[in-house]
Amino acid sequence: MSMFEDIPVDVGVIYEGERVRRHAMYVELGGPKQEHKFEVVRVKDLDEIEDEKIMMIGPDIKDMEEGSTHPLGIYVEVAGKDVEEDLEGVIERRIHEYSNYIEGLMHLNQRYDIWLRLNKKSFQKGLNSFDMIGKVLLRLFKSELSFIEKMQVTFITDPEKVREMWKEVMETYEARDAKARGMKDEEADAFYGCTLCQSFAPTHCCVITPQRYANCGAISWFDGRAAARVDPKGPIFTIDKGECIDPFKGEYTGGNAVLKEKTLGEISRVWLYTAFDYPHTSCGCFEAIAFYIPEVDGLGIVHRGFEGTTINGLPFSTMADSTAGGRQMDGFHGISIEYMRSPKFLQVDEGWNRIVWMPASIKERVKDFIPKDVVDKIATESDVNTTDELKTFLEKVEHPVVERWKAVPVEVAPEVEEVEVAAVPEVPVSGVPIAAGGFKIIFKDAKIHAKKVIIRRVEK
Ligand code: SF4
Repeated sequence: MSMFEDIPVDVGVIYEGERVRRHAMYVELGGPKQEHKFEVVRVKDLDEIEDEKIMMIGPDIKDMEEGSTHPLGIYVEVAGKDVEEDLEGVIERRIHEYSNYIEGLMHLNQRYDIWLRLNKKSFQKGLNSFDMIGKVLLRLFKSELSFIEKMQVTFITDPEKVREMWKEVMETYEARDAKARGMKDEEADAFYGCTLCQSFAPTHCCVITPQRYANCGAISWFDGRAAARVDPKGPIFTIDKGECIDPFKGEYTGGNAVLKEKTLGEISRVWLYTAFDYPHTSCGCFEAIAFYIPEVDGLGIVHRGFEGTTINGLPFSTMADSTAGGRQMDGFHGISIEYMRSPKFLQVDEGWNRIVWMPASIKERVKDFIPKDVVDKIATESDVNTTDELKTFLEKVEHPVVERWKAVPVEVAPEVEEVEVAAVPEVPVSGVPIAAGGFKIIFKDAKIHAKKVIIRRVEK
C-alpha cells in the first residue's frame, strides 16, 4: 500500500522542479506580494509534541478564492533523543524539498522568503486542504529522517497571526546565524558540503564554512556539522579541507576535490571569497546577487525581496536567471545575507570597498557590518537611478572605488577603417561565445539577422 493512498494527487521526486505559472495557479501563499511569510522548525522535548498532529490557524485552501494570494507561516515542531537544536535549520531546509514532491505544488526559497503556488489541476483533483500537505510532510520527514521521533505542524494563514509570529521567528533565525560569527575558517577542522539544490541546479554544490554561509542563508557551518553527524551519507556531508592553497582567496584542495566529484567534473576549482574567476557556484535559491557594474568597476548587490530595477536596469528575477543553475559565473555571484556579515565577504574583490550600490532595505539590515568609513558612500535606489548618476555620486562621496579608476589608463580612440557589408543573410548561430568586458555571452540555437555589418580595422 502506498504511503500516500489517501492523498488525491501523486507524491514523488519527479515533481521536484515543477513550476506553477500565474495563469495555472489556484492559490498563491507567501511570495513577493506578502510582506510576512515564514517557515521554521523548532526542537522541543518529546512530551511537548503530539506526534503527527496537524493544526491550522486561519483559512484553509478550500476557503480561499481562486487566483488569490495569502500570507503563510509553516511552523514545524520536532523531537527525538538525537535531535539537537543545530538540526533545526537542516530539517527546515527539507520543507522545500518535500513540498515540491507534491504534484502541482511549487515551493520556492526558504525562511522568510517562501513562495508557494498550488495549481488548478491539483486543486480540482481534491488537494484542497493544508491537512493533506501536512500529512505528506510528516510522513516524508519521519520516513527519511529517522532521528525524528515526534513531529507536529501548524499552518498559519491568518494575517494577524502570521505577522505576530514572524517577529519571533526572525529572532530565531538571527540567533542561529549569530552563532557562527566570530569563528574563523582557518580554525574549523572541516567544512561541510550540501547538494540539496542539485535537483534544480545539477552542477551546484555549496561549500559551507564558518565564514561563508550557504547561498540560501538557511544552513550554517554548525547546521552542516549537525546534519553530517546524524546522516553522514545524506545530501549534507563533511568536506575534508585538505591543504590550503590560498588563504586569501579561500582555495582548499579538499573544496576543489569535492566540487569535482559532486559536479561530475564540470567544476574543479573554487575560490570562496570572490565573485570573479573561480567563484562559488550559484544554485537558484541564493538570497542575493553580487553583480559587476563595468561602468564604475564596482559591485552591486540586489536581494530577492527587492521589487524595483537595479542600477543596471534589470530586476532581481532577470539577473537570477543569468546567475542560477549551478554555474560559476564570473561577475554574477549568488550569496546569502549572512555572508555579507562575514569579515571575509568578497575579500579578494576588496570587500565593502568595492560595493557601490545596494537597495536601502538590505543595506539597513547589514549596516552594522559595513565599515563605518564606507557605509554612507554606498548608493541606494533613493540616491541614484542610472550608472551615470552613480558615477557622479561615487566621485562626490569619494568612494574607495574611485581610486581604481585612476589606475586604468585612458583609452585613446583608435583610428579605424570601415567596410560596410550589405545584404547579410540570416545566420544560424549555435554555441558561439563572444567575450567582451569580462563577460562571455554564448548564443545557443539563435538566429541573428542584421541589416548591415560594419567591419572595422583597429589600428593602434
Ligand atoms: S543553497 Fe546550498 S546549502 Fe542551501 S539547500 Fe541549496 S545546496 Fe544546500
